[in-house]
Amino acid sequence: MSPHTSTDRRRAFITGASGQDGSYLAEHLVADGMEVHALTLSGERAADLPDGVVLHHGDLTDVAATRALLRDLHPREIYNLAAISSVALAWEQPDLCAEVNGLAAVALMESAWLIAESTGQDVRFVQCSSAEIFGEPSESPQTEETPLRPLNPYGAAKAYAHLMAGVYRSRGLHTSSLVLYNHESPRRPTRFVTRKITSTVAAIAQGRATELVLGNQEARRDFGWAPDYVDAMVRAARHDVGGDYVIATGTSHSVRDFVAAAFSHAGVTDWERFVRTDPALLRPTDPTDLRGDASRARVVLDWEPTVPFDEIVGRMVDTDLA
Ligand code: GDP
Repeated sequence: MSPHTSTDRRRAFITGASGQDGSYLAEHLVADGMEVHALTLSGERAADLPDGVVLHHGDLTDVAATRALLRDLHPREIYNLAAISSVALAWEQPDLCAEVNGLAAVALMESAWLIAESTGQDVRFVQCSSAEIFGEPSESPQTEETPLRPLNPYGAAKAYAHLMAGVYRSRGLHTSSLVLYNHESPRRPTRFVTRKITSTVAAIAQGRATELVLGNQEARRDFGWAPDYVDAMVRAARHDVGGDYVIATGTSHSVRDFVAAAFSHAGVTDWERFVRTDPALLRPTDPTDLRGDASRARVVLDWEPTVPFDEIVGRMVDTDLA
């Protein structure tokens, strides 16, 4: 690819593009007429990415390679979705989580800042942060002012990147950090509890499985609809100034509520007998209740969640039944 000497206003760069959010974000940006470049790990499937997305294979932790690629592309918008994406995986590899979710995110901010500096042009950086930065929060619902108290390696690494997004904003880079609460869709991998539930419930309803084995069912999470959350990312990138934004529905449900709603939607009434708890699936520590107040995003970005809890569960169950 030939080097570009100015940031292309219509060019976007997405890291972690092979995940649920990457696919929805790429669809959103392509529909907007953007030229979308996507970074995925070598060998990773990016099945849900739309036609026209330019794929680049590489590892975000290879800072020199990623920086050279960005210098070549000069994107106007950079979305950092790459992460050890699940809390459970981060417990297994806390050092890798620190490197990917923390250090590599900061290196990408530095790359964005270097491009903005060298070209004198506006580069917009969106960091995908997480409600896990609040851990066991001092207040509920949480806002952008709630103190950070992560409880696990995932939350701690995301907290570092979130704080550094603020540092780069002070330094003059248009940087936003989106504190995303759990957001779900039929594209969620089954290592996440919601899709594990809907895929297993569908299998039980169709006689292909006999039990749903879970960990902590009392945990309460604020579950939203993933495409709404990528819409918030784009709104943040295009707002006049960068900022921190809680992106959430404002309502929390327990894992058990999700199970009940999924069985109900699949038409299974006597469902309790199918559910078993396995202590091996309990985490060393697990936030009890995460619920976000997205007032700032509503007011400043004119953003709002569009799909209620029962509808999210229903759409996921329907897809798994089909
Ligand atoms: P994450 O914690 O944001 O990565 O999202 P998950 O979907 O993995 O977990 C959400 C909540 O579900 C956490 O409180 C988990 O402890 C709880 N949970 C209960 N059983 C399970 C399970 O079998 N798998 C997963 N992944 N989470 C579970």
